[in-house]
Formats: sequence, C-alpha cells, structure tokens
Amino acid sequence: MVSFDYAMEQIQRLAGLDEFPRGEPAAVEELADAGTRAESEEILSRAIDDLAHGCVKCPKPVDVIRAVRAENDRVRDLKYKRPSRSPKCPHCDGARFIHGSFLVTKHAQEDYAWVTSQELKSDAQIKAVRSNLQPNQQILDGSMMCVCHPGKNVKQEEVPV
Ligand SMILES: [Zn+2]
Repeated sequence: MVSFDYAMEQIQRLAGLDEFPRGEPAAVEELADAGTRAESEEILSRAIDDLAHGCVKCPKPVDVIRAVRAENDRVRDLKYKRPSRSPKCPHCDGARFIHGSFLVTKHAQEDYAWVTSQELKSDAQIKAVRSNLQPNQQILDGSMMCVCHPGKNVKQEEVPV
C-alpha cells in the first residue's frame, strides 16, 4: 500500500485529461483511494503513467484499480518467477512446485521409513484412490516440490488406479 497523500499527488497527474472530476473533491479522493492499492510508490507511478499516456478521458476508480493490479502482478511475477532459459518443465510450467492433491504413502521398513507422494490429477482419480486407501496412506491437499526442483529427492511412485 502507498500513502493516500502520495496517491493523491499521482492522481493529480491525470488532471489534464478530459472529464477529470475537477471541483468534485470526493470523486478525486475516490481515485486516490483506488491508487493506494499499489504495493509501492513505483508501481503506482507506473500505473498512472499508463493511464496518463493511454487515456483521453480521465479514468474511473475501477480503471485505476485495474491498472494498479496489473502493475502489482507484473512486478510480483518478475520477483518470484525466475526466468529460465531452459525449456519449461511440463509438470509445473517452471514454477518448481505443483499444487493439488497428493497421495502420500509412508513405507516402513525395519528401522527406517520413507514417504512417496503422487499427484492425483482428477476428481475421479482422487475418488478411486480414496476408496482404496491403505492404513499407511493419506490424501493431502497442498503443494509439493516438482521433480525438477533441485531439492527434490523423493522418488515418484505409481499406484494402480
Ligand atoms: Zn517441474
């Protein structure tokens, strides 16, 4: 979030556009309020750049929110998605994690145990696995390291469905 004062300052950059709500302080405040949703001052300033250069008429608060959200998302993507030059992993699309439902099986052996997990890709598969769940198995929802993750050393196990 950015401060209301900073948002107000940025919104004033739209004052040259047609239909800017001059003389309607409440409407200008609405626009500034929409701008406070930006995650940083830089994001808001870039979102307002887009609007100031791309619009003839003054945008509505909903347009400001949309522009801010697009810029928030863009910056977040840059931060968290490591651009990879190698072809994207077909399992996780390069995210290194898979989100979904997993069958987790604990294998006990004399003096140690290990766990394997398998992604369940459809409701039908989840249902079939659930109806045949062994005492050492459970179905968990969440995220799991993909096979392409450097920390992944658990082998995938196929189960009959
Ligand atoms: Zn992957």
